[in-house]
Amino acid sequence: MLSRSALHARSSLLRPLVSPIPLRTLRTSAPVAQVQNTIREAIDTPLSLWNFTEEENMLRETVRKFADDVIAPRVIEMDEKEQMDPEIIKGLFDNGLMGIETQADFGGSECSFTSAIIAIEELARVDPSVAVLCDVHNTLVNTVLRIYGSPEIQEKWLPDLATSKVGSFCLSEPASGSDAFALQTTAKLDKSGDFYTLNGSKMWISNSAEAETFLVFANVDPSKGYKGITCFVMTKDMGVQIAKKEKKLGIKASSTCLLNFDDVKIPKENIVGEIGKGYKIAIEILNEGRIGIAAQMVGLAQGAFDKSLTYAFQRKQFGKPVGEFQGMGFQFAEVATEIEAARLMTYNAARLKEEGRPFTKEAAMAKYFSSVVAQKASGQAIEWAGGQGFVREVGLEKYWRDSKIGAIYEGTSNIQLETIAKFLRKQYQT
Ligand SMILES: Cc1cc2nc3c(=O)[nH]c(=O)nc-3n(C[C@H](O)[C@H](O)[C@H](O)COP(=O)(O)OP(=O)(O)OC[C@H]3O[C@@H](n4cnc5c(N)ncnc54)[C@H](O)[C@@H]3O)c2cc1C
Repeated sequence: MLSRSALHARSSLLRPLVSPIPLRTLRTSAPVAQVQNTIREAIDTPLSLWNFTEEENMLRETVRKFADDVIAPRVIEMDEKEQMDPEIIKGLFDNGLMGIETQADFGGSECSFTSAIIAIEELARVDPSVAVLCDVHNTLVNTVLRIYGSPEIQEKWLPDLATSKVGSFCLSEPASGSDAFALQTTAKLDKSGDFYTLNGSKMWISNSAEAETFLVFANVDPSKGYKGITCFVMTKDMGVQIAKKEKKLGIKASSTCLLNFDDVKIPKENIVGEIGKGYKIAIEILNEGRIGIAAQMVGLAQGAFDKSLTYAFQRKQFGKPVGEFQGMGFQFAEVATEIEAARLMTYNAARLKEEGRPFTKEAAMAKYFSSVVAQKASGQAIEWAGGQGFVREVGLEKYWRDSKIGAIYEGTSNIQLETIAKFLRKQYQT
């Protein structure tokens, strides 16, 4: 039993010196904010997040086979050469993976959003560079045209994008990354009223070395600030200059270039959505695009985990496979749990989007968390394989290099945390 003085000492230790919450706040009769979304509309048959449609399962099998048979043998060479193999791009088109959600009438596969997420996850398990090519093309370029494009624009651009031409999404610029709406590229309407003249530069544009179709965000009236931002669709031969291909830490086979636009003439028919509504398109599309990056990070984490554990259960030290040591097993279990959590957050965000429910917070959480998990899993995977984890030809160190990008593109981790924090402020601030 504790003595009276010991009890006194403990209770004064437990008592905070300064009350962390103003007492007046606690004494009000205002209800305590409830955890949002814990009660939602009821459905007849609740299902786990591991349920997929027949079509989604078939797509996963197809992509897995394509990734293992066609991509895997080329991964290391593509990384060394910093070049995407054109055979892989052709294979993505041939397998219907470049128009996953696009209407069948336009040559697309007309599958669900979750199908696109599954495809990105499966591609990233083998090569995150191929995954991002497919991701940007589907979740950004195709989706902008499918959702905001007029029937004429859709008919003109979507068939090629589904069957033969790679697309790029050009928002970031040398002076505007996180603050995307500070972009300086301008599009000036000419006297005839038929054409816009585009001038400016875009930076870090994925797929741009291979792309023939470009979605470009430019300001038609800088005096209106971000309300002048407008989205244009154009072909490369209209005057997109690929100024420089960046050399990168990871996802080296995915091209990332600096683009210049020097008095490029674009017909007014190439405006996607409304004039001045480009900022809205960019926000909305990146909200859902982030689920694709989360899927890329989940696939990457799983790929590194699978490769490393396969080795750990073959490699013998002290007379037994190193994977059998308890110290290893606990680490495997912890990382497996984190990958599962990241995957479920990603699937959940995807299903929320499909159901037409709010998903922005969940997408930001999934992207943020998956990128943390991918870095941890791929880093651990190197250590579990010892010296073999560190050498290039095994391919484990590549996963770790590739994982860093998850915390940067389509909104850095700080930007995701800011988005989540905004929701929390709305929920708890009175
Ligand atoms: C490989 C690669 C591919 C890419 N592909 C594309 C593409 O296809 N299309 C495209 O348009 N863009 C693309 N990007 C650009 C990418 O989206 C930007 O790099 C990203 O949004 C971050 O912008 P930034 O690099 O200017 O960093 P900055 O915005 O300069 O950020 C620097 C640091 O400051 C922090 N920071 C900034 N603002 C805040 C804030 N308000 N609160 C707290 N912290 C903050 C950031 O989190 C970061 O840590 C790509 C980038 C890379 C590296």
